[in-house]
Amino acid sequence: MKKHSKLAALALAGAMILSLAACGPKDEPQNSQTPEETGIYTPGTYTGEAQGFGGTVTVKITVDANNVTDAVVEGPDETESIGGAALGTLADQIKTANGGEIDGVGSATMTSNAAKNALADAIARAKGEEVGGGETAALKDGTYTTKSPSFGLLSQMECETTIENGTIKDVKVISESDSATGEWFATARDLFIPRLIESQSLATDAITGATISSNAIRACVASAIDEAGGKSGEWYTEVAKKSDTVKLEGYDVIVVGLGGSGTMSYCAAAQEGATVFGIEAAAKVGGDASTTYGPMALNSEYLKNLYTDGKDYINADDVYKVWMEYVESDEKADIIAKAVYNSGSALDYYVENFGFEFQGLGLLGSFVVPEWTQLWCVYSADNDNTSWNILGPNKTFQFVRALDIAKSKNEKNDYMTELTATSLIFDGDQVVGVNAESYDGTKYEIYGKSVILATGGFIGNADMMNQYLGSTVNTMGVTVNKGTGIQMGQSAGGATYMMGTLPMVHISQVKNIIRTDDLTADQKAILTALALTTDQTMVTTEGNRWGNENQSGTQDEGVTVEIVYAPDYMYYVVYSQEDIDNIKNNGLSEAQASATSAFLAQGGTLPAAGTPVADIEQILTVGEQYGNVIKGTTADLAKAMGCDESNLKAVLTEDTTYYAVACVSYAYATVGGLDVDVNMNVLKEDGAPIANLFAVGQDSEGVCNKDGKAYSPWGGQAQSWTFVSGQIAGTQAAKVAKGE
Ligand SMILES: Cc1cc2nc3c(=O)[nH]c(=O)nc-3n(C[C@H](O)[C@H](O)[C@H](O)COP(=O)(O)OP(=O)(O)OC[C@H]3O[C@@H](n4cnc5c(N)ncnc54)[C@H](O)[C@@H]3O)c2cc1C
Repeated sequence: MKKHSKLAALALAGAMILSLAACGPKDEPQNSQTPEETGIYTPGTYTGEAQGFGGTVTVKITVDANNVTDAVVEGPDETESIGGAALGTLADQIKTANGGEIDGVGSATMTSNAAKNALADAIARAKGEEVGGGETAALKDGTYTTKSPSFGLLSQMECETTIENGTIKDVKVISESDSATGEWFATARDLFIPRLIESQSLATDAITGATISSNAIRACVASAIDEAGGKSGEWYTEVAKKSDTVKLEGYDVIVVGLGGSGTMSYCAAAQEGATVFGIEAAAKVGGDASTTYGPMALNSEYLKNLYTDGKDYINADDVYKVWMEYVESDEKADIIAKAVYNSGSALDYYVENFGFEFQGLGLLGSFVVPEWTQLWCVYSADNDNTSWNILGPNKTFQFVRALDIAKSKNEKNDYMTELTATSLIFDGDQVVGVNAESYDGTKYEIYGKSVILATGGFIGNADMMNQYLGSTVNTMGVTVNKGTGIQMGQSAGGATYMMGTLPMVHISQVKNIIRTDDLTADQKAILTALALTTDQTMVTTEGNRWGNENQSGTQDEGVTVEIVYAPDYMYYVVYSQEDIDNIKNNGLSEAQASATSAFLAQGGTLPAAGTPVADIEQILTVGEQYGNVIKGTTADLAKAMGCDESNLKAVLTEDTTYYAVACVSYAYATVGGLDVDVNMNVLKEDGAPIANLFAVGQDSEGVCNKDGKAYSPWGGQAQSWTFVSGQIAGTQAAKVAKGE
């Protein structure tokens, strides 16, 4: 996999923008002429800043005596497909308006409002006027209905904000499409809204784990303030944080991260009689594990009783053999044996002792070995006990219930959410505890005899992604997982293992999912089909041919599994002008008309093959605005893709306009992690175990995998590893703490 100079350059640019923002607005007049002498502005370059959707939006204008001659709008933290995509248009509007008001971009209200506020400050500076002074704009009482793109794929979030006596009195989310029952959305709604009302500040921190939903609520309220006649830019007063430090001492076991593997670790340690403290960064427990289908479980007694009259339902020896062939080494054979032969008993242990419930054996077959029809099962959900799809029914209650059972085993046992572990505490080179910080700013020093690292890998850490996997990847999971556990293990001298195992990808979609109304659902489905179809020419980000001969052939295997091998975890599906004209007049091909995204679909219906698509150009134009389509000659494509044109020319031989539609991987999590032994003890480079430090789940999943390969994709294996590794680590950590 190539190292990505393009991404490095973007990261550098981002860092530069951030450092600029950190320094605050700067007035940089080029000379000392006064406005009276020369015109309305003092010539020079001026900046203004305001809070956008994700962070600071900076407007930099260059003026001569009477005109705005240049404008740049930067917003490194804006959502790439919405606010980020609007930045260029906003800059153009500022130049055209030449000191007047700009319209903004309808699909990016929050970024547009920030640009308007930042522009006002920059203009004021250019005029030598006071910035930020004067009266705060008054608000008109009322209830305002406003919208913002959110996590939902089907429509935007809609809120009713009640303004009374110049304050935000109430906020209600009145519609929130397919994540309306999503647990992360509910967490944001229940926690963010009261905090925002209490602080009366749009600078209220997003809820950890539910950032997108929190920011969407924030955007709705900001629009309501603007509609009420106020200036939302004035509502970002700093929210005070605490600065005290709390010490918690005397624990046997500390578990860092209470997702899949952390919850099992906590339970197993408590079951062994240890006193346990759990640290969870997100506002709810369960992590990625609570959004999944479910675990692989080979010949679990519980499942056998439910489904196969007590009979074995899979040959576990076969699974072990295939797995050993996959890793091409017997270095971790003892661990892989546990992963195989303990998978059923770990599930049974959870069911018997901690009330977990599963179902659906055989609903999902193996991804790669068709004969393994009964391999994994799914979590039961609370709504009707038969639904198990992702991002919908509540499964977190199972994790909470298990933790509460474990907690009740000793009155000292406890756990906290919205508490982020930052580093290990050492006494000499001995691990003695964990430093953490609460959402309210309170620092915690938590002391314990054993520490279990369960922070779910590093998908949310761009630096680690670039370092170990050559590129970041679009995500379909918890980006709270920033590799903290792996870094904590490394700080204790721990080694890593198979960090180059490819991230967990089963989903492809367009690069920037369009969550606004700029296209209808049916139009979005067509854009998706153009990205996912396998019957067109495909090129990598390096401009080389991709697909067909690289792929296994079927839509599922070809696109959703093997895309992970493409550089940058993406490729382009390229259409010539003739292809597009053909779709316009004669419709989609059979392959295109059946190319849908199972998980990230947006509710649209594809036209039958052969039905003319009259609006194809409009679809492509909006796709282009959102960074999903590149249109132009091979030279234009090469420039936008950052590749060598000669590569493209070898594949795209016609002298025509091309449309390159990006098809991108969406990954659940990373796989490589800390090196561990069969007890889940973190190992040093020399192979020596660190006696009281353990790593589980994605933080040690590399031991079951192989650099450069897609992760062991039998089906449910990752979840299963959380159970197996968590049970072993919790039990061992308790024993070590008790000196057994
Ligand atoms: C949509 C989706 C579907 C999936 N489907 C399946 C499936 O069907 N079968 C399967 O086997 N696998 C599936 N997976 C993968 C599986 O969910 C993960 O491999 C598994 O959850 C990993 O467990 P974990 O404990 O390592 O991480 P997680 O369950 O993500 O838990 C990590 C926890 O650590 C917390 N954390 C992170 N940093 C810190 C910190 N600094 N301090 C404190 N806490 C921290 C996080 O908030 C999180 O709660 C799916 C994943 C996703 C996203």
